[in-house]
Amino acid sequence: MTNLADNLTATAERFPDRPAIKLDDLVLTWSDVQAGAQRVAGMLRSKGIGPGDRVGMVLPNVPPFPVIFYGALTVGAVVVPMNPLLKGREVKYYLEDSGASIVFAWKDMAEEAGKGASEVGIECVEVGTDFADVLAQHDPVTEVVSREDDDDVVLLYTSGTTGQPKGAQLTHHSMSTNAATSAETLIEITEDDVVMGCLPLFHVFGLTCGLNASVLKGSCLTLVPRFDPEKALEVVGRDKVTVFEGVPTMYAALLHAKGADAADMSSLRTCISGGSAMPVEVMKSFEKKFDCIVLEGYGLSETSPVASFNQPGQERKPGSIGTEVRGCEMKVVDDDGNEVPQGEKGEIVIKGENVMKGYWGRDEATAESIKDGWFATGDVATRDEDGYFFIVDRKKDLIIRGGYNVYPREVEEALYEHEAVREVAVIGIKDDSLGEEVGAAVALKEGASVEVEELQAFAKDRLAAYKYPRAVWIVEELPKGPTGKILRREVNAPENGS
Ligand code: AMP
Repeated sequence: MTNLADNLTATAERFPDRPAIKLDDLVLTWSDVQAGAQRVAGMLRSKGIGPGDRVGMVLPNVPPFPVIFYGALTVGAVVVPMNPLLKGREVKYYLEDSGASIVFAWKDMAEEAGKGASEVGIECVEVGTDFADVLAQHDPVTEVVSREDDDDVVLLYTSGTTGQPKGAQLTHHSMSTNAATSAETLIEITEDDVVMGCLPLFHVFGLTCGLNASVLKGSCLTLVPRFDPEKALEVVGRDKVTVFEGVPTMYAALLHAKGADAADMSSLRTCISGGSAMPVEVMKSFEKKFDCIVLEGYGLSETSPVASFNQPGQERKPGSIGTEVRGCEMKVVDDDGNEVPQGEKGEIVIKGENVMKGYWGRDEATAESIKDGWFATGDVATRDEDGYFFIVDRKKDLIIRGGYNVYPREVEEALYEHEAVREVAVIGIKDDSLGEEVGAAVALKEGASVEVEELQAFAKDRLAAYKYPRAVWIVEELPKGPTGKILRREVNAPENGS
């Protein structure tokens, strides 16, 4: 029996006065975080909220986030973290679907969250810079409510491989073991580390590897509410950040940011990348420029998230997502669920303590995605002779051009090798004779210029004839999701192709 919040109790006891959560000049110690969480728990209890009740959160990376999160856990409630950019009707969907009893919203988002809350008839607690004064009016709850291993701790909304957003039920066990595995065997975090908190905490990557890993080990998490590469460079130098956690677009942005040449990044010990494929070129240039190591891992909201990683002490293979992490098994299978021979493509399936219990209130979707304990990811990969996995792409992003399979990632990797390219997204474009044609939207490095024909010829030189993009167009920026992942599905081809 354990509650993820027990980690906060233990860390506050070990390191009461050490810096825990930072936002510029504001510093909370571990005992501050614990005291705040205990008062949030008091507030929730006074409103009749307790074990198993769902508590919505609409907050950016600000210090009240960890305080509310751990406060809700203290009374045994289940947190439903939401993207602060959601509109009222979207908040309503999440609150209704999860059956939330209350929602906390940061002041700048309180209007939209409030609309959603009033439509489902629940209270929206506005959180501002005076939050500590509000909490002072509530009595603390000093006992963490005990929970069973398979009790839910968060419902993380994700579209999964299909359909409407669904709440992945992560349990106290799946989240706490994945935070421990990440902190102990992958990132090797200690209380002396300073972890960069620029990944959104409402997303599983930032929540587990940033917040929960720091709470477990007592490292300091320095928050950046909205990722901006120049600000991030400044924070690394100012706070002597030792661990950087980000998605590949963040690495690319830091590399090309103004001030990158002069930035003091000497404190960096380990950088971890996940969430989408790290282009090998970006990884190599980042390591060279900032003299550090970048380790790539892989996972999903449904797997708490980390499932595989280029693990310390083992050979690192750029372009690979590494091998299975502690407590997790991974296989590459065909459509019938049989393991494919080494080197062949198939879908990744995952089993282990990190796999979610199911999708909240959706038995059918759960049964479709978890068979005999194996969770089907929708990601296509191969496995090499050393057991390392290589993501080919996502099943749903596959382009079928005249009967040939083209995986966008391979085309993207080829274009990333061009010196003018900063970011690229390859998509399928409807084509009357071939079904789909390959198209590439390219964002250039600052000050760079290149003809689209040159990019096309560059790709043609490096790829089989059926794969190179017949349409290439230049864009200022590519559409991105909340963590900064490039959203291929939101890229539109221009009317006239290239
Ligand atoms: P999310 O649930 O938002 O974390 O998204 C999970 C998806 O991100 C996976 O199904 C993969 O398609 C993708 N993903 C995560 N890590 C990687 C990686 N290292 N390389 C390629 N794709 C990744």
